[in-house]
Amino acid sequence: AALRSAYAARHPASAAQYEAACAHLPGGNTRSVLYYEPFPLAMVKGQGARLWDADGHGYTDFLGEFTAGLYGHSHPVIRAAIDSALDQGINLAGHTVLESRLAGLISARLPSMQRLRFTNSGTEANLMALAVAIAHTGRRRVLVFKGGYHGGVLTFANGGAAVNVPHEFIVGRYNDLARARALIDDNANHLAAILVEPMQGSGGCIPADPAFLRGLSDAAHAVGAMLIFDEVMTSRLSPGGLQGRWGITPDLTTLGKYIGGGMSFGAFGGRAEVMELFDPRRPGHLPHAGTFNNNVLTMSAGIAGLGQVYTPEAAIALNQRGDALRERLNALCRAQGAAMQFTGLGSLMNLHPTARAIERVDDLPSDGQAMRDSFFFLMLEQGFYLARRGFISLSLPLTDADLDAFAEAAGRVIETLST
Ligand code: PLP
Repeated sequence: AALRSAYAARHPASAAQYEAACAHLPGGNTRSVLYYEPFPLAMVKGQGARLWDADGHGYTDFLGEFTAGLYGHSHPVIRAAIDSALDQGINLAGHTVLESRLAGLISARLPSMQRLRFTNSGTEANLMALAVAIAHTGRRRVLVFKGGYHGGVLTFANGGAAVNVPHEFIVGRYNDLARARALIDDNANHLAAILVEPMQGSGGCIPADPAFLRGLSDAAHAVGAMLIFDEVMTSRLSPGGLQGRWGITPDLTTLGKYIGGGMSFGAFGGRAEVMELFDPRRPGHLPHAGTFNNNVLTMSAGIAGLGQVYTPEAAIALNQRGDALRERLNALCRAQGAAMQFTGLGSLMNLHPTARAIERVDDLPSDGQAMRDSFFFLMLEQGFYLARRGFISLSLPLTDADLDAFAEAAGRVIETLST
């Protein structure tokens, strides 16, 4: 409560903006994840790895727009690509060379995506991947996992309400292969797909054991179901996503976030003969439309980003820096004997208020948000922006000095919270 009132006193302009927004938006909000009490920060500007709020406070950005902000704010290469797209007109209502270029760059990184199609969000990409699996198999059931997040209408969080699309979902336990196999066998003739994040992102950066993912692949194929990897968040974790890192080939993959260079983006794809479903030259093909699917701003920003900025070398380097930061933060927790840890892989991590091993959301303490809130508000006071749920996503413009400063500030906060 003391931290919240100090926060309220420091941010009168954010408070006023929030109040005004409540007149037009329910609870002043259009992205549920951004709300926290007493009111969320209003951001007015970003540059590189820096952010400024409406009251003029500056922050080093460790949230990176929940992974979509990988390139940082207004990266010069991305900006130049968007500028030159603007010079050519942006609503051309036709095919352009850009969409096949971006598709080619993506297929080269994730060869399981022999053919792909673009959407405007990761949510849409997952909805379309499910549509492919249902059309391809002629079945309707989908195995997902508790704690999974595949978009605003495909949410399998720990408790909580959801406005999910009415698919026939079966909910398994993450990293529990025996349970998943039993569910797959029970639904053998009805299962269209298994939809899984190779690391649960929103669920708290909980990596899947590669053996769990391999087991899902075998079990899916044994009953004729399709394995869909939701790599919307995880594709950044190696040059070829987590499928590349673990050497697992899913039938379908969905992408989103940073791949559009920070613009609205999604994609789904897989083997050519499966994706041929959408070939408009084929009688009985599946239609898939979307006014902005091939919008030239996203396509241009995406090509510049993957082609020139987030090269395979850059991906390896950023994830090594993330691993080093997470190990350093965990060493600080251990040194303080704090009941805290940072889970994750590479450039993505999440704070949890327990020192016990975490394999799935059931392992998270149910009363953990108070400690995460304290960490969040204390880090904000020291000039570091992250998600209230303790989520951290590194962006390319963060310097080693930024990472050091973050670790030092986190060390002070961990010490405060563990005494
Ligand atoms: N899938 C995963 C794993 C995600 O983390 C997200 C967004 O956080 C989505 C899908 C949905 O993507 P979007 O917000 O672009 O609809």
